[in-house]
Amino acid sequence: MNAQNDSLDKAVPQADALANTHEVFNQATPLQDYNAFRGDTALYDAVLREGGERGVEELDRYGFETTRPEVIEWGYQANANKPEFETHDRYGHRVDQVNYHPAYHKLMDMATREGLHSSPWTDPGPGAQVLRAAKYYMHAQVEGGHGCPITMTFASVPSLRLTPSLAERWLPKVTARGYDGRNVSHHDKQALTIGMGMTEKQGGSDVRANTTRAHPVGAGGSGELYELVGHKWFMSAPMCDAFLMLAQSPGGLSCFLVPRWREDGSKNPLQVQRLKNKMGNVSNASSEVELRGAHGWMVGEEGRGVPAIIEMVAMTRFDCMIGSSGGQRQVVAQAVHHAANRAAFGETLLDQPLMRNVIADLQLALWPLERLRAGLTPGWTLAADDEGRILRFNGTTEAQVDYQSDEPSSRPLPVYNARHDYLLILSPADPGA
Ligand SMILES: Cc1cc2nc3c(=O)[nH]c(=O)nc-3n(C[C@H](O)[C@H](O)[C@H](O)COP(=O)(O)OP(=O)(O)OC[C@H]3O[C@@H](n4cnc5c(N)ncnc54)[C@H](O)[C@@H]3O)c2cc1C
Repeated sequence: MNAQNDSLDKAVPQADALANTHEVFNQATPLQDYNAFRGDTALYDAVLREGGERGVEELDRYGFETTRPEVIEWGYQANANKPEFETHDRYGHRVDQVNYHPAYHKLMDMATREGLHSSPWTDPGPGAQVLRAAKYYMHAQVEGGHGCPITMTFASVPSLRLTPSLAERWLPKVTARGYDGRNVSHHDKQALTIGMGMTEKQGGSDVRANTTRAHPVGAGGSGELYELVGHKWFMSAPMCDAFLMLAQSPGGLSCFLVPRWREDGSKNPLQVQRLKNKMGNVSNASSEVELRGAHGWMVGEEGRGVPAIIEMVAMTRFDCMIGSSGGQRQVVAQAVHHAANRAAFGETLLDQPLMRNVIADLQLALWPLERLRAGLTPGWTLAADDEGRILRFNGTTEAQVDYQSDEPSSRPLPVYNARHDYLLILSPADPGA
């Protein structure tokens, strides 16, 4: 061993040292495996306040279910893998088949097993809507796209009830728990999903501009069969088993239930032209379709199509509010979790005064005012105006979140979040204000 070899030995690093480039630290952990119900004090309070006590145990269970890592992963997968559309099979038959990632079907299965599409109709006891809304609120935090057919199926029930003959035939399978995503006739399934076709190229909000026509096959009238010719410009979840649609019949704009398959087992000519290329809501296939004599039964009275379908539209808009609020809740939860688990300049982000203000602002701005108010103990009130939100105790302003303010906090006012066991410190009000 000479001096030259000695120095070479020292210069060559060990293999371990080469592979081990750095230690990962100061990164937040994934936000998972927690009770999304009990940790959400505003949601918990709202459920108790609105008469949902009987569902607390079930909501506790579902609070954990929606935060399982596997379930969260389904949400990512369903959006990372866009649905794909096939007009025909490889033998040339028209199929109108949308192929979703398996994760989408798992989410659909989960939602329908829980009754998110039907529980208030099948189990209409006290607080039934509250319990379903709370579950939907948590479920929406996993993934939004598949919520579209779940919501539409839920919302179709009041419209279908307008025509007893249709309600009798369709509602047992529409409200049944479970999911069957196969591209087969509704006769061959035990559980069905329902979509909605109103929007046309020339009229979205203004559905009275619809030009799709409906011709009676027989006598015509409520519950009777018609043939529809026309188009729909934005029809989501085209693999639903049937759709409530608007079309012009001889007596005016009317509502129809249009299945994907005819009664004789042949394909109903409701043909998907293509899928929309959307920026968000990716997992939910939205389509453009043409009706080439598609069969459909009239729902409600002739010429009363808007009042008939508005029963469904109103319920879908109800879910839009719950789903959007759920999404906002998840934004705040992720922000708080990240800030609590990452440090900068010697403190966790959550302990940095300016970050506290940002988080408090998010929390106060995004949480529904009524729920925040409900969470306050006696003596405290919360007011809101264009400038921000103001917290008062016995009429005296104690704290405020001013959307323009960048003053760090000096006098702590605790707002406790049970999920993450953190205190939000709100800015004190200017005593002179
Ligand atoms: C993700 C997604 C899924 C959808 N799924 C479906 C579906 O399954 N079935 C279906 O039928 N449709 C569906 N739609 C279409 C949707 O319902 C329409 O986009 C909606 O009805 C608005 O119609 P429009 O886009 O033609 O806008 P327009 O009617 O052209 O309106 C344009 C703008 O003007 C505003 N506006 C309209 N009227 C007035 C007024 N009187 N006063 C002031 N402002 C007004 C509107 O709010 C809007 O901001 C979907 C849309 C999206 C984004």
